[in-house]
Amino acid sequence: MKACLFAGDRLVLREDASELPTVEEARGWNAGEKAWFPATASRPAAWDGVHTAEGDGVHAAEAHDARAVATPGERAETATDTPVVAARAAPGWTPPEGVSAIGMRQAIVLLQEPDLSIAITAAHLARWRHTSRFCGVCGTATEPSRRHQAMVCRSCGHLAFPKVSPAVIVQVTRGDRILLGRSRRHPHGGYSVLAGFVDPGERLEDTVRREVEEESGIRVRNVRYFGSQPWPFPDSLMVGFTADYDGGEIHSGDDELLDVAWFRADALPPVPPAYSIARALIDGFARSNGVDPSRIPTWQRR
Ligand SMILES: [Zn+2]
Repeated sequence: MKACLFAGDRLVLREDASELPTVEEARGWNAGEKAWFPATASRPAAWDGVHTAEGDGVHAAEAHDARAVATPGERAETATDTPVVAARAAPGWTPPEGVSAIGMRQAIVLLQEPDLSIAITAAHLARWRHTSRFCGVCGTATEPSRRHQAMVCRSCGHLAFPKVSPAVIVQVTRGDRILLGRSRRHPHGGYSVLAGFVDPGERLEDTVRREVEEESGIRVRNVRYFGSQPWPFPDSLMVGFTADYDGGEIHSGDDELLDVAWFRADALPPVPPAYSIARALIDGFARSNGVDPSRIPTWQRR
């Protein structure tokens, strides 16, 4: 049985490990964890990287490192195939020698499938349980429901289900150019496609139009679904779209973005690493403009 031990939001692994520890091994690290809980998605987590509208990982297989995807027609090994438990280390715990607690962004680089998908699901569930310890209605301490993937309040019966926060991410093109923005949160010099959270009452297409116009001043049309990806920072589901330029001039007046600009496929700035749906969208643009995605500069996080 595999184990996902978290120290805060960081995943605990043997140093430079590319797979999760067994539960026996993780217990040996004496993290003062309270309880291990099943950390499998309530439904089959048939997640093989970026799921796309083209179906069965074809796009993903092109866009990503082969380790992250299933070949078309072949069923990906799913998180539910492997029994897995998770727990949080006691506050203040320090990993023993040869073991370290790493951020999930680093885990995405280190872990191989299926462990990566397992860890992403477990990180989401562990954080949700930690932030759902008290009832949002009456304040009583909650406990895990036996019937649902939920925390239940024994006092008033309120059920708190895992929260998933949808966000859109969009490849906007104008002829042979793509719209990219540089965020304060990106590494120095790094650009990516525009993204933003869905507001209550919005359709996903509305969010695409609103976010792009707010962040860049550009209006878009022909909004088409591209694919999706669970993104545990901390609890998002990234929903990818492509869209065409419809009008407007670029302004970089948004609080979040330092710069927004159009780029040709053969002159791209550093963009996010493989495995992200952002990179899949950018690679797709490059490919359709005759540029090999392996030649695109990738940003490095320090
Ligand atoms: Zn309650």
